[in-house]
Amino acid sequence: MSHVRLPAAPPISVAGLRAGYGRIEVLHGIDLHVPAGSVFALLGTNGAGKSTLLKVIAGHVRATAGDVRIGDVPVGSRSVEHLARQGVCLVPEGRGIFPNLTVRENLRIWTYASSIPLPEVEERTYAAFPRLSERRQQAAGTLSGGEQQMLAISRALVSDPSVLLIDELSMGLAPLIVAELYQMVAKLAEGGMTVLLVEQFVTTALAVASRAAIMANGRITGEGTPAEMADAALSAYLS
Ligand code: ATP
Repeated sequence: MSHVRLPAAPPISVAGLRAGYGRIEVLHGIDLHVPAGSVFALLGTNGAGKSTLLKVIAGHVRATAGDVRIGDVPVGSRSVEHLARQGVCLVPEGRGIFPNLTVRENLRIWTYASSIPLPEVEERTYAAFPRLSERRQQAAGTLSGGEQQMLAISRALVSDPSVLLIDELSMGLAPLIVAELYQMVAKLAEGGMTVLLVEQFVTTALAVASRAAIMANGRITGEGTPAEMADAALSAYLS
């Protein structure tokens, strides 16, 4: 099977998707189209299945029914590693960084799976996040929450992904830092990638997104522009 990379910023199509863990079905028939090159926000209450949907798209969880495609690539027939090499990058909830390694060592590990050499990776990362430059010899686990999240996003700079899947960037962070991080995501997206993000900070997510969908109990309950989704998103969280 070839490891030809996906074209820049492909669309993501999900049709009739069912998936879960063991015998428990979490996604009960998801239809979703993420347009090529868009920043798409996935909103919804706790346990709605948002993270599970991202995991299916990245190949970590397998569908039990339906079809998921990134561009022309059927996700179900590809391994996680294959999808990663093709340019699918998942920044998981909980950051996915190595706490005992320094900033620089974390970057070096990610370059193993990347075609970009370490000096260039460092240059890109420190240009995007000058704060990380000052802390390059510090253990990642001792960085502040916001700095750890900057490092987690740096993974996307390292692998030059076509598709960036981001789960709850805001986890435990102050709103100002969250806004700053999303500005960086918007900048990355302009460079040519499709971004699907899960977020509890509705207003911040809708500010960077060009489209949004709301999930509840394993189903999509609404989809549209941020303006169309704002009221529905807020009432979903209040209910
Ligand atoms: P949150 O906003 O709270 O992170 P979410 O919308 O991302 O929620 P998921 O994390 O996808 O929702 O979880 C959906 C359901 O799947 C929940 O009921 C959760 O308990 C269950 N679930 C998630 N991961 C697993 C797992 N590894 N094994 C079993 N059940 C799981």
